[in-house]
Amino acid sequence: MVILVPGGAGFIGSHTCVALLEAGHEVVVADNLCNSKAEVLDRVATITGKKVTFYQIDVTDAEAVNAVMAKHSFNGVIHFAGFKAVAESVEKPLLYYYNNLVSTMVLAQACLKHGVKRFVFSSSATVYGANKVPFVETMALLPPASPYGHTKAMSERILMDLVEANPDWSVMLLRYFNPVGAHPSGLIGEAPTGIPNNLMPYITRVAAGKLARLRIFGNDYPTVDGTGVRDYIHVVDLAEGHVAALNKPAKGVQIYNLGTGRGTSVLQLVHAFEEANGIKVPYEIVARRPGDIAECYADVSKAERELGWKAKRGLVDMCRDAWRFEKNYYVKD
Ligand code: NAD
Ligand code: UDP
Repeated sequence: MVILVPGGAGFIGSHTCVALLEAGHEVVVADNLCNSKAEVLDRVATITGKKVTFYQIDVTDAEAVNAVMAKHSFNGVIHFAGFKAVAESVEKPLLYYYNNLVSTMVLAQACLKHGVKRFVFSSSATVYGANKVPFVETMALLPPASPYGHTKAMSERILMDLVEANPDWSVMLLRYFNPVGAHPSGLIGEAPTGIPNNLMPYITRVAAGKLARLRIFGNDYPTVDGTGVRDYIHVVDLAEGHVAALNKPAKGVQIYNLGTGRGTSVLQLVHAFEEANGIKVPYEIVARRPGDIAECYADVSKAERELGWKAKRGLVDMCRDAWRFEKNYYVKD
């Protein structure tokens, strides 16, 4: 298949480009590089030995998107382009609603115009709100805790309504849990600018001596050790989940959780990182972070049953690969 990948230079997108190319698909990336670098796509080519066609465009720009669509004969779109920092979305809600919703509408509109009927969307576990774990696809959604979360829930709604009106479309809503790690080559990974918001890149920065210590947000949650529990998934497993989703011939809306089904606490992840890499990660316990929930992990049986996909990599792989990427690209800067 020929796949348009908006946001393909980013963390999850770049790993998915690798998985798509390795599975024999052709990949065209559209990215404005607002949170990534073009050289990532050179590294994707180095890993796979295959070329990626790249357009530096903003996918909220309908004219630019239509021009790309007119140049290729796409079989599908996997839409990663969006803003993802939860706290920033609270401070700048309009920025988030505009970028995340307009990109989805512009891309979907262009698909209608150019007869592309397969659309895969990067959704998030945040759409479950404070439901009871494990989160199952059939649950009624509760309000997400941030504008970012609302952009995901609204994008899902827009795409569902579009399928209602166009029953020959196939829309896959993939709800990611906590993607971490990096490609085992150490060439691509998660490279946030500034001080990381997420746990794993913060841990690797502390391990590299770039930040003094990890701040653990609360140890009084009703969890195994009081710290927050999440479902960490290796980004390469997540990328492979997209290939599995594309392989499923389906009409209508399909929703899948992409996680491991296992909950890991912050302290458990810190200790796993220390053991996997033989490095101490100094930490202190501080107050809870506003908007955090105690536990978030997936019921993954639907993806396994219907897509034949299951996360294969464990915490040790996630910690080793994240650290290898940090060492390759950031220790010396
Ligand atoms: P990322 O920031 O690394 O990648 C997003 C890419 O989209 C970047 O390369 C950025 O330059 C590009 N982009 C953003 N707005 C654009 C626009 N208007 N036009 C063109 N390009 C644009 O983020 P990621 O972690 O790879 O996340 C990818 C998707 O998955 C996002 O939609 C995110 O919300 C979703 N998601 C991420 C996580 C996570 O924890 N990383 C969890 C759940 C869902
Ligand atoms: N966390 C932490 N310190 C940090 C970053 C995160 O203790 O510097 C905790 C956070 O409270 C949550 C877990 O780590 O329990 C995962 O947070 P992250 O921001 O990586 O992902 P989220 O689940 O919020 O999307």
